[in-house]
Amino acid sequence: EYASPHELAELMGLTAKEIIQKCFSMGKFVTINQRLDRETIELIGLEFGFEAEFISEIEATTTEEQFDNEEDMQIRPPVVTIMGHVDHGKTSLLDYIRRSNVVAGESGGITQHIGAYEVEVERGRHITFLDTPGHEAFTAMRARGAQVTDIVILVVAADDSVMPQTIEAINHSKAAGVPIVVALNKIDKPEANVEKIKTQLSEAGVMVEDWGGECQCQEISAKKGLNIKELMDKVLTEAEIRELKGNFSREIPASGIIVESELDKGKGVVSTVLVQRGFLKVGDPFVAGNTMGKVRALMDERGKRIPEAGPSRPVRVLGFEDLPQSGDVLTVMESDRDARDLAQKRQIIKREHEFRRSTRVKLDSIARQIKEGLKKELSVIIKADTDGSIQALADGLMKIHNEEVKVQIIHQGVGQITETDVLLAAASDAIIIGFRVRPNVNAKRLAEKEDLDVRFYSVIYHVLEDVEKALEGMLSPEL
Ligand code: GDP
Repeated sequence: EYASPHELAELMGLTAKEIIQKCFSMGKFVTINQRLDRETIELIGLEFGFEAEFISEIEATTTEEQFDNEEDMQIRPPVVTIMGHVDHGKTSLLDYIRRSNVVAGESGGITQHIGAYEVEVERGRHITFLDTPGHEAFTAMRARGAQVTDIVILVVAADDSVMPQTIEAINHSKAAGVPIVVALNKIDKPEANVEKIKTQLSEAGVMVEDWGGECQCQEISAKKGLNIKELMDKVLTEAEIRELKGNFSREIPASGIIVESELDKGKGVVSTVLVQRGFLKVGDPFVAGNTMGKVRALMDERGKRIPEAGPSRPVRVLGFEDLPQSGDVLTVMESDRDARDLAQKRQIIKREHEFRRSTRVKLDSIARQIKEGLKKELSVIIKADTDGSIQALADGLMKIHNEEVKVQIIHQGVGQITETDVLLAAASDAIIIGFRVRPNVNAKRLAEKEDLDVRFYSVIYHVLEDVEKALEGMLSPEL
């Protein structure tokens, strides 16, 4: 499956009509959104003086599984995710560690939530925590091909039981091949029953060490800060067994994973990156998913500027052109130009995917109605991955001025597109814009049934472009 006349036209700065006519003259009858085969695309390219280049998604994802020199490999801090059932104390534990920094006598002083932070457990012994508790984020990252977690801390409230989400967390960790360290929490409570939990854990396939199993286990109280240091020591022991190493060479182009991003009014896009390889430095040009940039500043979890960040180090990075997505790989490039080229290639591929997914029908017909003066308002529902995205989209949409027609955002929210959203859209004749989110199964079915326009985007510019076109009544195919 390759590009359609419409997309080729965009790439070559021509109209779709010109492409279709060219096809016609070559004896091929095609429609505007029909996928053309490779040969046709090559021929058309030649006809218009372009050379077709076919980039597969794999090729465009340049992190060539790089070769690490053995002498560059050094022990790096483990990256830990905290999982467990709701209310068992994940957030309390993360908060305690963030605040106390565990190191005796030193306050952590990490007040910001930036998606990840590093603590020094003892002099020179660090642990990096991903600050999104639960297995959803963990699995979402994994689904995008980013495995960042080395060790899972499974929190189980000792006054409760092994619960459905405990089991899920176990299954998700096992599926990822990530070792578990059990934290039996709330032992300050009189009803705490440690033996019962251990029994239930063994039934769930997690055998703790003192029962002859593999899993280290620590009784703690997240609320009271009891035995947290002991828990950290067990995590470090687990890390030592695994000999987690990273490439600490300063000669190689650094790479890392996007943990979280937001749009800051003053600073622009600010993204938390977990460096995995090499050192990310101020001034480095990079690509990250479909976007690119140049590192303008690096900040640690305390908001302090730092010149560089090495393996397992979470840093706030300034200098992105657009919001990257959690789980995207950030790769340092030779030059700004290389970064831009690769980002553009990826965007083309991405658009191709979006194009295939989205049903144009509804917005097209709205565009027509607007053109004919039948419609004065375009109602939209925005569902997006983060508040930052929503804000950016809303700001952008509000700036689209048009004499006759206006955009109205009737509902917005972070998270999946749900049935309720679809129902609201159906009731209000609105389109749904999904920005880096997908509908759940029921919502998808309902949208199909209602013949509703649900559009998926990952680049803000593309949303604004389409809405603008619809408002100008131009979105309908030119033919
Ligand atoms: P999460 O849903 O897993 O993130 O759980 P939270 O961290 O929000 O904790 C849920 C509730 O349990 C809160 O009211 C906490 O104050 C309480 N809690 C957490 N850890 C402990 C603990 O060690 N002892 C006691 N007594 N309460 C705790």
